[in-house]
Amino acid sequence: MIFPRRGWTSRGFNELSKVSDILVNGDYCWTIDWVEQFPGLEDGPMFRSERDQADGIIWRDKEGVSRKLSCNQVWKNLNFFGPKVPWFRLVWFNNNIPMNAFILWMAILGKLKTQDRVKSWELNGNLLCPFCSNVCDSHDHLFFSCEYSMQIWKHFHNKMGIIFILDNWNDLVNKFCNLVKGKSIVVLIRKLVLAGCVAHLWRETNARLFRNLNRNWQEVVSFIEHEIKVEK
Ligand SMILES: [Zn+2]
Repeated sequence: MIFPRRGWTSRGFNELSKVSDILVNGDYCWTIDWVEQFPGLEDGPMFRSERDQADGIIWRDKEGVSRKLSCNQVWKNLNFFGPKVPWFRLVWFNNNIPMNAFILWMAILGKLKTQDRVKSWELNGNLLCPFCSNVCDSHDHLFFSCEYSMQIWKHFHNKMGIIFILDNWNDLVNKFCNLVKGKSIVVLIRKLVLAGCVAHLWRETNARLFRNLNRNWQEVVSFIEHEIKVEK
């Protein structure tokens, strides 16, 4: 409920007025026209007036608990962020490259426009994986099971000493979730590798589909490694 300034100054209040100025013997003394203008005003929560205590601003959170007002508290209450996902550390960290983070985020959510998703409205044309041309691409194929992608993962897994026994793209994401706890340089490199691999696999897909450019997997690896060295 917001009172316009003109409304309260015309009734003798000013910027220095206190909550206690509207209380008489512990009860509100709202003006009649305010009560008519703002239904429910008299039923609002009762402030507690304590002598010798300065006025303060309290925020009642969505659970009904009164807390000291803070931007952080208000922001959390006004925005529903949902439960924390287990992979948030993979995507959101300081040194990540923004475009790589965005592509990884979309890939984890399964929202990239892989050909299995566009085939419902693209009835004609080549819908085969641009790497192997064996099957229609999908998140799982493109980022995990395609031989081209597998070579890149194997290269980095060998370098990072990670045992590579996984079944699909989701397994790969879950595996990385367990490998990125803490803030060591090793953890940072693992996160940069994951985001770099996914982003460059996606870029390579688009380069092949739309620009007729082909790089072998070793060239993609070199590019990812160069990017990680610069970022470190
Ligand atoms: Zn393929």
